[in-house]
Amino acid sequence: MRRKIVAGNWKMNGSSDLAKQLVGYVRAELDTLDNGVEVVIIPPALYVRDVLDQSGGSVGVGVQNVSQWASGAYTGETAADMVKDLGCGYALVGHSERRQYFGESDEVVAAKVERVLASGVAPVVCVGETLEQREAGEAESVVAAQVQQGLCRVAADQWSSIVIAYEPVWAIGTGKTATAEDAQNMHSAIRKVLADIGAPAESISLLYGGSVKADNAAALFAEPDIDGGLIGGASLIAEDFVSICRSMPAGTKG
Ligand code: PEP
Repeated sequence: MRRKIVAGNWKMNGSSDLAKQLVGYVRAELDTLDNGVEVVIIPPALYVRDVLDQSGGSVGVGVQNVSQWASGAYTGETAADMVKDLGCGYALVGHSERRQYFGESDEVVAAKVERVLASGVAPVVCVGETLEQREAGEAESVVAAQVQQGLCRVAADQWSSIVIAYEPVWAIGTGKTATAEDAQNMHSAIRKVLADIGAPAESISLLYGGSVKADNAAALFAEPDIDGGLIGGASLIAEDFVSICRSMPAGTKG
């Protein structure tokens, strides 16, 4: 049985006030959510404390980035142990914006995944192809390589902590969503790659991300290999985010 997760990535948006209002609202709405979805909020690091204070334990909290190093003279970085210490359960690793603007390679992603796992935090490993790669027919091979290389340091007993988010780069923040069928096909391909590298493919949660909104979430979440979503823009609007959480069908996945 796989975890069903809807995670809101605020990116570099929000405020202390938003953290208080939005998380309070989401938490109150969760009382009436009975579809088994785990809701996670991933604010900028400076607002993690605010979100944690409002989460009441029923909303999971994560960070958007973490250092590949354990501790020391790395000014501006956040250690995975600190993320754990604060009480966060998740850390995004390899988001396409990190790959694009901060040169995060698959090698760095692998190092971060290893570090996050060692700290007892669950990495949400982001993979996805660019438009050029999709148009060149390379989408599956690009994503397969990101999965293989990004997860190459995961030990056999650590797979239960791994979450993967498939986010086609051309769909992030653009309003263009992959069709439910295209997303399902890629999720199914990712499961095959996971099986090939010896991972328990059927028990790993795979999220879809890329312009998920209240009006397209249900079709995506209905697909058999899509276990939830990583939501950017729509996670900043409380009603929309709750509506996306409600779009998850009841029952088990996997
Ligand atoms: C994201 O930031 O991971 C994302 C999917 O953004 P958006 O939903 O805005 O496309």
